[in-house]
Order: sequence, then structure tokens, then C-alpha cells
Amino acid sequence: MSRYTQRELRQIDEFANFWMTREDAETERCEHCAAEPGQTCRDPDTDEPVRYPAHWIRIKTSEQRKDQT
Ligand SMILES: [Zn+2]
Repeated sequence: MSRYTQRELRQIDEFANFWMTREDAETERCEHCAAEPGQTCRDPDTDEPVRYPAHWIRIKTSEQRKDQT
């Protein structure tokens, strides 16, 4: 029997997905906040790192690049 509940397993999945999405997105430059590859997106107003993986446009760009290869 698993030592995790279904709910915990789902949270672990979401957490792993968060970092995978961020890692992929950070191979691109962000057109929204101008973060360079390898840098985490920052909120242009507060200069704080964003709480989501990256700005949407950057995630979209990295997804499109993956589709091409
Ligand atoms: Zn950004």
C-alpha cells in the first residue's frame, strides 16, 4: 500500500509539473518581462519572481519550439 494518499500523489505530480514547465520555459527569453534564458520571470511591477512557472507567452514559445523538434 502506498504511503501517500491520492490527494498527496496529485499534489506531488502538480509540483513536478510546475518545475518541468518552468525549466522548459526558461530555455527561452521572456517576451513579457525580458528575463534572459535561465532566469525566472519577474513581475515587472514588483520585481519579485513570479509564483507560477513563467509568463504565459514564454511557456507558449517553449512549447512551440518543442513541437518543431
Ligand atoms: Zn516573463
